[in-house]
Amino acid sequence: MILSSTTDMVRQGSNSNGDTPCDETERGDTFSRLANTTRLEILQTLASSETPLSYSEVFQEVSVADRGKLNYHLRQLVAEYVHKSDEGYELTQSGKRAANLLATSSLRDGAKRSFQRIDSQCGVCGSDSVELGYRDGEAIVRCLNCDRQLTNFDFPPAAATAYSIEEFKDAFAQRTWTYFDLADEGICPFCAHSITFEIRPSAATDSDSVPAVGTCSECPAGIRAPVGLLLSTRPRIQSALSDSQEKISRIPFWELEWCTFGSSEIQRTDPLVVELEIEMDDLYLSVEVDSDLTIKRLHPVPTSSQPNESGS
Ligand SMILES: [Zn+2]
Ligand SMILES: [Zn+2]
Repeated sequence: MILSSTTDMVRQGSNSNGDTPCDETERGDTFSRLANTTRLEILQTLASSETPLSYSEVFQEVSVADRGKLNYHLRQLVAEYVHKSDEGYELTQSGKRAANLLATSSLRDGAKRSFQRIDSQCGVCGSDSVELGYRDGEAIVRCLNCDRQLTNFDFPPAAATAYSIEEFKDAFAQRTWTYFDLADEGICPFCAHSITFEIRPSAATDSDSVPAVGTCSECPAGIRAPVGLLLSTRPRIQSALSDSQEKISRIPFWELEWCTFGSSEIQRTDPLVVELEIEMDDLYLSVEVDSDLTIKRLHPVPTSSQPNESGS
C-alpha cells in the first residue's frame, strides 16, 4: 500500500477564480485548425528546418495527394501557426509551441513505463529499494522498504519513455526541482500565471504529512508539496547550507529527509506555525514558517539537542 506522496500535481475541475482565460470559441478554433494529420505534418516539417521552406519543398516533404489539398491546409495554418514571406514558409511562435507539444507528446495519454530499481536512497527510511515508473503523465518514485510513494509529478511522456532509467531519474529530479523553485517564486511552472502556496494540513494523505498546496490563478494545475522542498531554494536556506549546496544540487530531492512530508511538524494552529528541521552534513537547522510559507525563524539547533550525531 502506498502511504504518502511527497509531491503531487493534481488536476482540479476548474479555475479557482472562475475566470475564463481566453474566449472559448477562439480556443476551439485554435485547436480545430490543428486537428488534421496533414497540418500536423506541415508543422513538423517546418519545425525540422532551420530556414524557411519554399512551397515546393513543403509539397515534397508532406504526404498530400495534390497541390489543391496542400493549399487548403496551408491556408488553415497561415497567420496563427505559419508565417509566409518572400523567403518561404516558417513557424510563428504559436507554431513553434504547437510543434513543441507534438515533440513532447504532452497531450498523449497512455504512455507508461514499468517500475524499475534506480540507484537511489529513500529520504524517509534510508533504504536503497527505490523504484521509478511512469503513468498518467507523471513520474512516480516509490520505496519498497517503507512502502511509501516518495514523489509523483508531471513529466512529458515522449522523454519519459526515451531515456535510460538512470537518465530518466536525473532528468525528472532536476526538472521537478526547477519547477518547484519557479512555483515557490509565485510563477506557475505550467502556464506562467501566478501561483500561491499555503500550508494545508487538511490536504495530508496520512498522519505524518503537512503539505503545502499551490493553486494557480488561471490553469487547473494544483501542486501539493513538502514544505522543505519549496524552501530548499530560498536564499536564506541556501546561505545557511552554503557548504552543502553543491552536494544538494546533485542529490535527487527525495533522498533528502527534510524534503519529504514527514519532516515538518505543526507547532501551533492559530495562527498556524510549522517547524521544519533540516539536517545536512554537520549542520542542524530549525526553520519556522507561517501558513503562507514565510520564514519566521531560522536558527541552528544547539549540538546538545541534536537527536543523533550528524554523519557523512
Ligand atoms: Zn523508504
Ligand atoms: Zn498555471
